Amino acid sequence: MRNRVPLADIVAGIRVGEVQRQAASDSLAPVDVRVLLSFALGLSRVQLITQSERQLTAGEAERVRALLARRIAGEPVAYIVGEREFYGLAFRVTPDVLIPRPETELLVELALERLPPGGRVLDLGTGSGAIAVAMAADTAHAKPDVRVTAVDASEAALAVARGNAARLLPRQTVDFIHSDWYAALPDGARFELIVSNPPYIEQNDAHLQQGDLRFEPPDALTDHADGLSALRAIIAGAPRYLVPGGWLLMEHGYDQAEAVRALLVAAQFAQVQSWRDLAGLERVTGGLLQVQRAI
Ligand code: GLN
Repeated sequence: MRNRVPLADIVAGIRVGEVQRQAASDSLAPVDVRVLLSFALGLSRVQLITQSERQLTAGEAERVRALLARRIAGEPVAYIVGEREFYGLAFRVTPDVLIPRPETELLVELALERLPPGGRVLDLGTGSGAIAVAMAADTAHAKPDVRVTAVDASEAALAVARGNAARLLPRQTVDFIHSDWYAALPDGARFELIVSNPPYIEQNDAHLQQGDLRFEPPDALTDHADGLSALRAIIAGAPRYLVPGGWLLMEHGYDQAEAVRALLVAAQFAQVQSWRDLAGLERVTGGLLQVQRAI
């Protein structure tokens, strides 16, 4: 239908199944409509199907229209519903934090493989706490003595991360510190593993003006420079905080793996390598801090 007012047909009496057909034709992905509809009505995905003939009240129709309108205006679904699943856990997210991405689960898996019993982990720029809390949750039973330290330069992000740790972990095994990378770490702090998903998008990258990224905190996305400055700072500081034999693992952009490997090699890291995400892109690069030999 031409010139139809978007969402105009979502009024009292419309059926749940009909909303999905109507809305999906109004520049909305069917999956987004499903998530927003189940959020608005308090129904599970299965209930959306079993109750497809149920009619909406006027209040429900208005609520659904309002949420769908926000999505049409570009707002990410995760911010509208305040939640995003990562590593099988439901993380609260607000516009103060980056929305966790599935490719970051690769970083978590690689880190867990390298974490010894009793290991200490440092997560730099934790945002929602996705990496730190996923690692703490995964090790809670098998390696209960693991300690995670998570830092962020944003107090607002730390508040979100602390909330996620409190809700998702059986015991509070994550220490949160307000810190610009390593700046506020206690003297003598040492870690078996350092992980980070830092801002790595180059300042003039057109993607920053597109899609969900327009709504995410710019400081979590871009270094406001060449895209590598946060990665450089993390690599430069790591030798002072890693134990010999400890690993540094970083997520980066699809075209940055070679540059990050070169930075690690220049900083004398060993076993420098990159790993591909499910899309086949080199997404994580890391290296091991060599054991210092006496001369
Ligand atoms: N992976 C995100 C994106 O390209 C960026 C995340 C980041 O800068 N750390 O959408």
